[in-house]
Amino acid sequence: MSAPHQLEPLLTELSEAGRGSVQVPDSSLDAGPALAGFLRTTPPALPELSELEVVRHYTHLSKLNYSVDAGFYPLGSCTMKYNPKVNDRVASLPGFADLHPLQPEQDTQGALALLFELERLLCGITGMAEASLQPAAGAHAEFAALLMFKAYHRERGETKRRRVIVPDSAHGTNPASAAMCGFDVTTVKSDARGNVDLAALEAALGDDVVGMMLTNPNTLGLFEEHVLEVSAAVRRAGGLMYGDGANMNALLGIARPGDLGFDVLHLNLHKTFSTPHGAGGPGAGPVLASAALAPFLPVPRVVRKGDGFALDHDRPRSIGRIRAHHGNFGVLVRAYTYIRRLGEDGLRATGEDAVLAANYLLARLRGAFDVAFDRPCMHEFVLTAAAQKRAGVPALDIAKALIDEGFHPPTTYFPLIVPEALMIEPTETETKETLDEFAAAMLRVAERVKADPAGVRAAPLSTPVGRLDEVAAARRPVLTWRDATAT
Ligand SMILES: *Cc1c(COP(=O)(O)O)cnc(C)c1O
Repeated sequence: MSAPHQLEPLLTELSEAGRGSVQVPDSSLDAGPALAGFLRTTPPALPELSELEVVRHYTHLSKLNYSVDAGFYPLGSCTMKYNPKVNDRVASLPGFADLHPLQPEQDTQGALALLFELERLLCGITGMAEASLQPAAGAHAEFAALLMFKAYHRERGETKRRRVIVPDSAHGTNPASAAMCGFDVTTVKSDARGNVDLAALEAALGDDVVGMMLTNPNTLGLFEEHVLEVSAAVRRAGGLMYGDGANMNALLGIARPGDLGFDVLHLNLHKTFSTPHGAGGPGAGPVLASAALAPFLPVPRVVRKGDGFALDHDRPRSIGRIRAHHGNFGVLVRAYTYIRRLGEDGLRATGEDAVLAANYLLARLRGAFDVAFDRPCMHEFVLTAAAQKRAGVPALDIAKALIDEGFHPPTTYFPLIVPEALMIEPTETETKETLDEFAAAMLRVAERVKADPAGVRAAPLSTPVGRLDEVAAARRPVLTWRDATAT
């Protein structure tokens, strides 16, 4: 059933002349002749509403939002887990939140200590030697890492290396980052178990290869079973291994990418280390390196100096600065708090529970939906709605029907190698009851595909607006009030 009553207040012009709830006192200052020409002579065209109407308007808008705090959000590849509020509390302590990035080092020792310690914690978790917290996101860190690869090869006089190997299951940012660095991309196919196809990799390697970008667990939610053979093969060809660590949630406390042959790695703090994200909000993508690649990390580096800490800009082999100041500091404080609060045992439990939750859901849904590569999964898994599509209901409609069931849909149509993909990541923060409710909803939708395909195709019916032009909504969003009478 459509719910026009929910939409109406958004589309109706509520402003009523003379109903304004703000009283601005007359200015007692004389602007003087210098400013006179700049003063407005007509009042600004602002909506006029009573305070109560404003409160109701924004309360209503906030209730239209879907968020992790409001409901289950199984968006595969995004790790939309619950973010403990204590992390926000700590990030907003005045000693952190009110710092200015240009304050002198002697005034910011606490902040530098936090950055230094967070780097050490992340190195410990990943088995890498050194880290920079500068990149603002995963893709930004990929870009930094490939600049480091370029500097490494250039230093060795290997300037003909121009090709980056990327598996066909990779996140789209991987080939995009390689292209932005001016490299060519060679795609390698996956084998029947969802691993990198070793024969295809061997065929792709050569003395013009910069290195390989590998995600483990990969975007199919599967552990790359031949990761050691893959990194050995790339190394034999003189290439370097880049680890896309956006899926680190599955490995926390269990396996370290540094032990799996990676030279440089990135982490997504806004996924694994608990920062609220979505809608392009702030993130952080630390880039971590082995001892051999560490000299190329971005500057400045946080270093020990006497009893305190300092910023070291004097690193001649560095790729340089890739962002203003020290990264998204508030996100870094949240990650530090999250890691310290969990401790080693808590981190391991996080990884284990994420994998357990995904395998539990997979077991409940197998049978109703086909599984793309059917073996035990890591923290997420990929179903295919190819059979449902043959019955006339593709993955998109199934996702929309889940909205009517009260759930955020899973990721759809990614990874690209799975037709009609439904990519589900439950995360470790959900209860078994929530997982059961979601499984029941998925099973109901699967039954409806058989009994009432037209009904599923008409979903969603419970939302203020139905099917959007999603491209236009993303590219040309209308986010502010406009005076309808203004020209
Ligand atoms: C999310 C993700 C990225 C990109 O990270 P951003 O922070 O969104 O730039 C890269 N690779 C994988 C596997 C991801 O899941």
